[in-house]
Amino acid sequence: MQTRPYNFSAGPAAMPDDVLRQAAAEMLDWHGSGMSVMEMSHRGVHFGRIIEQAETDLRELLGVPADYHVLFMQGGALAENAIVPLNLSRAAKADYVVTGAWSQKSQLEARKYCDVHLAAQVDASHGYDRIPPLHTWQPRPDAQYLHYCANETIDGVEFHDVPGRFGLPLVADMSSTILSRPVDVAAHTCIYAGAQKNIGPAGLTLVIVHRDAVGHAIPACPSAFDYAVAARNGSMYNTPPTYAIYIAGLVFQWLKRQTEGSLQGIAAIAERNRKKAELLYRCIDASALYYNRVAKPDRSRMNVPFFLRDETLNEAFLQGAQSRGLLQLKGHKSVGGMRASIYNAMPLAGVQALVDYMQAFERDH
Ligand code: PMP
Repeated sequence: MQTRPYNFSAGPAAMPDDVLRQAAAEMLDWHGSGMSVMEMSHRGVHFGRIIEQAETDLRELLGVPADYHVLFMQGGALAENAIVPLNLSRAAKADYVVTGAWSQKSQLEARKYCDVHLAAQVDASHGYDRIPPLHTWQPRPDAQYLHYCANETIDGVEFHDVPGRFGLPLVADMSSTILSRPVDVAAHTCIYAGAQKNIGPAGLTLVIVHRDAVGHAIPACPSAFDYAVAARNGSMYNTPPTYAIYIAGLVFQWLKRQTEGSLQGIAAIAERNRKKAELLYRCIDASALYYNRVAKPDRSRMNVPFFLRDETLNEAFLQGAQSRGLLQLKGHKSVGGMRASIYNAMPLAGVQALVDYMQAFERDH
């Protein structure tokens, strides 16, 4: 039963109630250790169990092949915009695809470290609203990697399949789509994600990287951000964000408990997410008041930006939502309008409550 308002924040985002309750119950004394997880040495036996279990569960959920490292790092996805070229570009050529505000930031940051070419980009004068067709992409054959953002959190543009590889190692920012659906890890050389959407609290960055790709960082790469150093030290070269890793571990356990019909784990989660997004987009498309400008095949299932045709109603819409327990629907400041982020922790009932409110608001205005 829902005991709290529905929270549509893009991140830090709503967490599963079960996870928060378990963390509360274990706050003062983790499993009879006499300590909070926050108070434990990261090198002690208790935390060792926590991080090992978290990695095992994540590997199982995503089907991470054995020849990939799973790294628990810090700095968020924006730091990865530098850490990726520091580790993988060899200060040579790297190609980027720009489909929204986050991939645009990625390619700009990478220019500090290597020769960047845009293999494909969208004319953003009317907003980012689609993925350029693959046959128009022009990556350089001698690039060290091809980077894309799997889900543009601000613009609501998502790759529903792995794009063509063009014979290049693929690197993906999966901050806002990881764990929302199955992913072909082996099609990528490196996947990274800030935790604060589908994984856990802010402060943790997840990196999944093929072991052959590590060990080539440029000399200026800080040791704490060198994938080889992180891997060699089991993510404990520096003190990792221990409490965030613990909560992420609880989220992975929660995900493993989710099943629907014959589908298990992430496949079941993906089906639930597909239904949630469909319900919301159907409401938007049927409305004379609301609209979404993203090409239908490229619409995000995690972040649904929408606009009111009469913008003078924006404030009333947000206030009405808030008073009905529908929180944090305001769109990103760079695009305006509204945005409903419907990550794994958002139940179908939450999306239904939003749709009911949107329809009532439209009738009343
Ligand atoms: N990439 C994507 C796709 C994001 O959604 C975000 C955060 N909203 C970022 C990068 C930046 O992440 P952080 O603030 O954790 O550095």
